[in-house]
Amino acid sequence: MRTKSQKSNKMKTSSILKDIFPFVMPYKWLVVATLTLTLIGSVTAQINAIVLNYTVDEINSLVELGKGLTEGMYIMFNISVILLGKELISIGITYGQRYFGEKLRISISQDLSQAVIVKMLTYRLAFFSRSGNEAGKLQARIDHGVESLTRMVQNFFIDILPLCASAILALALMFRQNFYVGMTALIIVPVYFYITYRQAVKMKGWRENHRIYREAKSNGIMNILQSINVIKSFNREEIEGKKQLDLLNKIKLNQMQTRKTGFAFDSLKTFVEQIGVVLIIILTAFLVLSGQMTIGAIMYHIMLFSNVSAPIRQLHRIYDDMNDAMIYADSFFGIINAEQDEKEGSGSYKPAKIMGNMELRNVDFSYPNGTKALWNINMKIESGKVTALVGLSGAGKSTIVNLLDKFYEPDCGEVLLDGVNIKDWDTQYLRDNIGLVLQKNHIFDGTIEENILYGNPDATHEDVVDAAKKAYLYDQVMDLPNKFDSKATELSGGQQQRVAIARMFIKNPPIIFLDEPTASLDAIATEQIKNSIDAIKKNRTVIIISHSLSQIIDSDTIYSLEKGHVMENGTHEECFKMNGVYRKIFDASARSLNIDKIAKTMEEI
Ligand code: ADP
Repeated sequence: MRTKSQKSNKMKTSSILKDIFPFVMPYKWLVVATLTLTLIGSVTAQINAIVLNYTVDEINSLVELGKGLTEGMYIMFNISVILLGKELISIGITYGQRYFGEKLRISISQDLSQAVIVKMLTYRLAFFSRSGNEAGKLQARIDHGVESLTRMVQNFFIDILPLCASAILALALMFRQNFYVGMTALIIVPVYFYITYRQAVKMKGWRENHRIYREAKSNGIMNILQSINVIKSFNREEIEGKKQLDLLNKIKLNQMQTRKTGFAFDSLKTFVEQIGVVLIIILTAFLVLSGQMTIGAIMYHIMLFSNVSAPIRQLHRIYDDMNDAMIYADSFFGIINAEQDEKEGSGSYKPAKIMGNMELRNVDFSYPNGTKALWNINMKIESGKVTALVGLSGAGKSTIVNLLDKFYEPDCGEVLLDGVNIKDWDTQYLRDNIGLVLQKNHIFDGTIEENILYGNPDATHEDVVDAAKKAYLYDQVMDLPNKFDSKATELSGGQQQRVAIARMFIKNPPIIFLDEPTASLDAIATEQIKNSIDAIKKNRTVIIISHSLSQIIDSDTIYSLEKGHVMENGTHEECFKMNGVYRKIFDASARSLNIDKIAKTMEEI
């Protein structure tokens, strides 16, 4: 069992290294510079020990000869020059090492973030609706992935490499002086390694719990802030407070256990380290007394040994970081490496002019999670006409728009635009010619002007004003203190909807899909927008999904859908006479509007 997991860890490590290699390659000179400085740094790190060895031995021999300060002045001079010179060099090396290392870390972190965003932008919509790829989860995978991978790079180039280089050099110096002292230091290393490994294994579960609790805690705070109105209106403050307290108690318990174990292992490691020091003192003292070493060697070896033990003291943290990196790197590179399966396809068909006649032929469609949404759909959408899709929630209306916009491909059947399968159309060109207004407003962080310009970045301010007028937004914008420079996210839901409609007007495409565009607008705005849409429908293809009777009745063609099937199609009168789904929806809408009373009121006027 253990060998299997060790093997899979090894495989994971090598695949992570393979994946991260292309991100490190562009900075190979930074790596070379960091490594060179590391090497020089590891040499300078031994100088103190060498100088001490020299000083003690020199002073000792002077004292033995009965000499004093005057004869020993040269020692003071030598050590001052060497140590001062070494410190000056060290400053430069440490600075360079940190700077290059940090530059490497920041650059790689930036490249990783950018790479995943650029890749994801090319993926088809199906990728985002797959389970496990929900927005929050993707975000966490990207954030943690970038963070842990860059920490891995930092551990390797900034922390562990200099320390290891210094440890290896110190060990080599110890061996060079005396084989037995070198062996004593070397024996301590695996013991230390083993304790560190046990510590990491023991603490792994708690660390994972800590991560889960931390996410739950921030999620909990988020939920409270988002639902504060509901919490207050139901007087649930105490319950919500208690929920957080329970979680905090779990975190406290978990933290205390982690600390307790951490401290126990740390003490054990310090003990082993001190045993190493004691063994080296005893051994060197013995070697000095038996005349095999000079007295300066005692301090020399102790100092070298501290250069050996310092890096392994850090191993526990690095081991943890590597484990984290493995968990997150896997799912992070999963996103980047999904390109082959998820990249959005594109044909090359780009005619000079689009007529705008669309057709669905025998189309079946299921979402990536397996939900079958459409059955054998046949539909003709003609240019110059308004086609309305009618049906209860979940009937498949938005799904049809998703297929017409090439967001998804049908399981079987064809979607045609001007007689050509949309699979063969150049995707970007196709979408350049389609205007989509959804029920849910997609307002970006930025000004109103920027948001409208999203429909056509080359448009002028006059075009923006014109589009805003068509969307009946202009007067409201003029009432704002910063006019078109006001923040679009601060507008009301209805105003944001008009921004989305203005964005469509400025794009001015030959094909327009409106998915409940007036759902969040008041009655007057709905009427105004309806007039604008009527005004632009000429020579365009307009598909509208709407619950507003007035918009449906006025459409040239209506398709009524139920549970993914087309039930009726034709004009309002034709569909009404069929006495089916359309009639049912129409009657219910009329009743909900209380048409009789409205008609009576109108008569009385
Ligand atoms: P309508 O627009 O008529 O309200 P939709 O086209 O949105 O209906 O939905 C049709 C069916 O497809 C519903 O059963 C819905 O649950 C399902 N569905 C819609 N979007 C997705 C999605 N992204 N992933 C999985 N199933 C979906």
